[in-house]
Amino acid sequence: MFLESVNRAGWVEVICGSMFSGKTEELIRRLKRALFARQEVEIFKPKIDVRYSETEVVSHDAHAIRSTPVENSGNILLLTGNVDVVGIDEAQFFDANIVNVCQMLANQGIRVIVAGLDMDYSGKPFGPMPQLMAIAEYVTKVHAICVHCGNLANHSHRLNKDDKLVMLGELESYEPLCRHCFNKMKQNGK
Ligand SMILES: [Zn+2]
Repeated sequence: MFLESVNRAGWVEVICGSMFSGKTEELIRRLKRALFARQEVEIFKPKIDVRYSETEVVSHDAHAIRSTPVENSGNILLLTGNVDVVGIDEAQFFDANIVNVCQMLANQGIRVIVAGLDMDYSGKPFGPMPQLMAIAEYVTKVHAICVHCGNLANHSHRLNKDDKLVMLGELESYEPLCRHCFNKMKQNGK
C-alpha cells in the first residue's frame, strides 16, 4: 500500500484484563478501525478457543470479525506475508514462543495488537502475558465491574471447582471480582 514509501515502524500493543472487561471488544474496535483505513489485517487465536466459532474472533456481545485458529505461535509467521496489522486474541493460551513471534512481526514493520487475560482464576499471571506486556510499546488494562461491590474488577473468580486451567470463559463459570472481594472469597475457600 502507498504508506510503504513512508518509513513504517512496527510495534506491539497489549490489551489485557479479567473476563468481562471488554478486552476482545477493544481488540475488535482497533482492528475494525484499521480495516476501515484499508490496511491489511490478519487475526489469529489459539486453536483451543473454539467456544463459539472456529473462524471468528467473537466477544461476548457478538461483535465478530474473521480469525484464523492456529496450532502454535510459529504458524502465525507463515500466515503474515503482506499485512499491516496482526491481531492476536486469547494470547494467554499461546506457547512461550508467542513473545518472539510478536517481536519478529513488529521488527518487520507490522503493528501487532495482542489481547488476553492477564491473570488466571487463582490470581497468577497467565502464560506468556507478563512477557508480552514487558516487550510491548503500549499496554492497556481494561476492567470489569465487581459483581459483589461495584468497584473496578481485575480478577476472574471461578465459580466451580474444576482445577483444569484451560477452562474457557462462560458467563456461568466465572465472575469478575475486585481485589478485596477476591481475597475474601479465597479466605472463605470459595
Ligand atoms: Zn468487590
